[in-house]
Amino acid sequence: MNCLFCAIAKGEIPATIVGRNDQALAFDDINPQAPTHVLVIPTSHFDNVGELALADPSSLKAIFELADEIAANRQLAGYRTVFNTGAEAGQTVFHAHLHLLGGRALQWPPG
Ligand code: AMP
Ligand code: ZN
Repeated sequence: MNCLFCAIAKGEIPATIVGRNDQALAFDDINPQAPTHVLVIPTSHFDNVGELALADPSSLKAIFELADEIAANRQLAGYRTVFNTGAEAGQTVFHAHLHLLGGRALQWPPG
């Protein structure tokens, strides 16, 4: 399987790694939409968060633990966590990933 985020998890493609734990890896988004825009991925491959939640809930927990740790370390006044699922929702990389966004006022509803 040719998966960009699996390649980043294996260190085959470079990324700016900002945190990791046993089951998750965090790195800067290459096209940031906020001062903090970090992607948190399971180190194992799942196409989307629904599959991840059903097949490996402990990895989903590890993703949120890592995201919360990064947000706390950066003392973000608030932050948003997003999983896009499916092309219509804007998913472009089909390896489950959490977007951690913060460092500016965020609008609602999202685009
Ligand atoms: P999504 O559109 O929800 O699938 O999110 C994919 C995200 O991956 C986008 O925000 C991209 O900017 C980001 N992205 C794509 N390629 C890379 C890369 N090589 N390193 C870091 N982030 C990337
Ligand atoms: Zn993958």
